[in-house]
Amino acid sequence: MNNMNKVNAAYIHIPFCSQICYYCDFAKVLLEGQPVDEYIESVIDEFNNIYHISSLRTLYIGGGTPTVLSSEQMSRLLNGINSKLDLSSLEEFTIEANPGDLSDEMIIVLENSSVNRISLGVQSFDDKLLKKIGRKHSERDVYDSIQKLRTAGFDNISIDLIYGLPKQTLEMVESDVTKFLELNLPHVSLYSLILEDHTRFMNMERKGLLHLPSDDKNIDMYEYILNTLAANDYAHYEISNFSKTGFESKHNLTYWDNTEYYGIGAGASGYLEGIRYKNHGPVHHYLEAGKNKRVSEEKLSQKEQMEEEMFLGLRKAEGVSLKAFSEKFDIDFYEIYGSVFEDLLKTDLVIYNNGRLSLSERGFELANEVFEKFLIDA
Ligand code: SF4
Repeated sequence: MNNMNKVNAAYIHIPFCSQICYYCDFAKVLLEGQPVDEYIESVIDEFNNIYHISSLRTLYIGGGTPTVLSSEQMSRLLNGINSKLDLSSLEEFTIEANPGDLSDEMIIVLENSSVNRISLGVQSFDDKLLKKIGRKHSERDVYDSIQKLRTAGFDNISIDLIYGLPKQTLEMVESDVTKFLELNLPHVSLYSLILEDHTRFMNMERKGLLHLPSDDKNIDMYEYILNTLAANDYAHYEISNFSKTGFESKHNLTYWDNTEYYGIGAGASGYLEGIRYKNHGPVHHYLEAGKNKRVSEEKLSQKEQMEEEMFLGLRKAEGVSLKAFSEKFDIDFYEIYGSVFEDLLKTDLVIYNNGRLSLSERGFELANEVFEKFLIDA
């Protein structure tokens, strides 16, 4: 496949983890016994020799847990994917890391690479709660990792937090948010726990053993988070993401802007030439797939592309420009969505301002209800 210059973002999946968290349904596998070196070579090959990627604006290595690689393996991966890349156009290069995995050697590898943003999977600062959700790290590991990263010159650090966890109270969420604020970091992603099939939590829930907070308590937590982060100058720029000015995730914005991106590695999803595709998930299948890494492809119709434009765009606080929508699809927005638009304006779920349609704070809480309205009847 030739280099597609118009595509400016790439995601690379490292599916290995040193533990399996009880809530997780991502494409991942326990590290032990996996052919990690072979996997890294295959990812580098997909990047350089299948897609011939030579220029990107954003690059994101996620997982799984990228930092379970040894420092030598990480160095090989970063050198391999950067060997043919014009680094002068790379604005943001994020890697996901687990607190506790960042050895001094790993920090040196990252410091000497073009990585300039770290996303730390903190989830909570509460050691007891961390254990209950299957995480291995501790609150102390979070502070140590951030300290090491800052000493190495990384200032663009984001953390993930989860709320609505088993037996979690509003006071526990307040404590997590307070500890986040004390760290003075520029970005946080806050997710409410979602019970997924084939997870330990789902099994526990089916047996009545999980004890999740009620919906009302979850709403209290969500409202506390919104109010507290807003009072501390964090912009709520996407449903689950908050940042100081200029620290929005450029890479993730490419997804919400509904633009195309390369997806590389086992189980990775990508969007190229109007096709949403998924790579083989099990590592062995991915390795055995040769040059044909994809397990499924779906060519999106114009109708599906328009629906996605709305679902994804409305996740952002800035919402969707109706003029840009009409230009992109060469069709009048009102012809497609005029009656939906009129109906939604009668609710308090959306805001229409300066030609842009966006969700209100209440709309963010009930986003799925709004998204459904933009499904186009066949
Ligand atoms: S949440 Fe992250 S670290 Fe935990 S099992 Fe899933 S991918 Fe691995």
